Amino acid sequence: MSPPGTPDPPLRVAIIGSGPAAFYAAEHLLKSPDRAVRVDMIDRLPTPYGLVRGGVAPDHQKIKSVIAIYEKIAAHPGFRFFGNVEFGKHVTRADLERHVHAIVYASGAQTDKRLGIPGEDLAGSHSATEFVAWYNGHPDFRDRHFDLSVERVAVIGVGNVAVDVARILCLTPEELRATDMADYAIEALSASRVKEVSILGRRGPVQAAFTTVEVKELGGLPGADVVVRPEEAALDALSAAELETARAATKAKVEIVQEFSRRTPAGKPRRLNIRFLVSPHELLGDGGGRVAGLRLAKNRLVKGPTGAVVTEPTGETEELPVGLVFRSVGYRGVPLPDVPFDDRAGLIPNVKGRVLDPATGTPIAGHYATGWIKRGPTGVIGNNKADSAETVNALLADAAAGALPTPARPDPADLETLVRERQPSFVSFADWKRLDRLEVERGQAQGRPRAKFTSVEEMLAALAGN
Ligand code: NAP
Repeated sequence: MSPPGTPDPPLRVAIIGSGPAAFYAAEHLLKSPDRAVRVDMIDRLPTPYGLVRGGVAPDHQKIKSVIAIYEKIAAHPGFRFFGNVEFGKHVTRADLERHVHAIVYASGAQTDKRLGIPGEDLAGSHSATEFVAWYNGHPDFRDRHFDLSVERVAVIGVGNVAVDVARILCLTPEELRATDMADYAIEALSASRVKEVSILGRRGPVQAAFTTVEVKELGGLPGADVVVRPEEAALDALSAAELETARAATKAKVEIVQEFSRRTPAGKPRRLNIRFLVSPHELLGDGGGRVAGLRLAKNRLVKGPTGAVVTEPTGETEELPVGLVFRSVGYRGVPLPDVPFDDRAGLIPNVKGRVLDPATGTPIAGHYATGWIKRGPTGVIGNNKADSAETVNALLADAAAGALPTPARPDPADLETLVRERQPSFVSFADWKRLDRLEVERGQAQGRPRAKFTSVEEMLAALAGN
């Protein structure tokens, strides 16, 4: 039999997840010049787009304009969306193997890295990922509570997520009301009594993970003065040497931080401190199980065994009184049922997207990974395009080589029948477009980009009524 990819039979691919990596994989498959492909995208939530909906900051609407590209991909006749369908619960790996030639896992990195220090689980210590998901109206996080009656907050880490969290905590009620943040979060953040937010970097400004545009924005917030200590912005010899050969963007980033360090606070309602050369060693409790502060160890920078600039404690410590802590030290992948997982790295073991069998170290025919679950939680939305192209090229090469397994029931109607049986309330892309319209209409009435539905029940009720 010839390899699948003629109009009859087309190459059938299931993609797990519907974030950027999933959509770029679908695009690359559907645009394949010499193969007819049908893509079924499966997501646990009724809503597509992964972190574009649930992660990108709600005051950064322009970044969300990539959705227009994803809508075009979804309009391809070979594309179907099965939302509100959980992989491993409603459809399993074995089910999909009966219906498709290949599965692409694009499930992202759904949890956070731990710090591994005492006090991490005190009340008032949260992962940034939880807070981001909460204010973006993710159904699993809408009932979380963050005590915004405290005056001082620490955000551990100086990546772009830490910057997002710190900025969101400093937005004015007017700024909050212009976003598509969940209604409950706008209410809670508008009533916030937070006066001071400190983001904490363990290394120096040259090594900070935040990018230029993101850090620059902190200097123009209407509701908060940005404060950097001159002694922490100053570069040690190692950092100065690193900066000499660094990219222009890194140089610009350091200049911005140093300009902040020369500012005199203008007396805005809040203060946003960007700290460097401090590592949290312990979260301190108030005696009643709540966070009351952080013990920070001051660092100097040294060359590590691999040549990278790493930290060494100076022996000096500092106590920072805070009532709320967000740990923002990176995301981490979670295992999918019946799919290999490298627990140490927090991703699916793979070579160029081909999933590896941990027992043999060789690829498992018909199984692929892309995005953060493939390469780890780094890079911006656009990085997923090349990443997904690499995975899909491997998949198409395997199809051309006749190396994909043949499913027992390749008729697309059969998978839909199965999904209907297992999850009668699955959400198609047409259903999502109706939800989308309703959200936008509700938002327009309030002068906002959209007003999100934040529970699955609410979404299904809205679809039933419209
Ligand atoms: P990230 O960029 O990897 O930053 C993690 C931060 O945590 C780093 O500053 C890191 O410091 C620090 N860290 C790690 N372990 C630590 C520890 N034990 N103690 C103290 N600090 C520690 O991760 P992220 O902020 O979660 O962002 C994930 C990805 O999404 C990034 O690629 C980011 O650019 C992207 N993103 C982009 C945007 C945007 O474009 N606007 C917005 C949000 C996220 P070291 O460097 O010293 O390890």
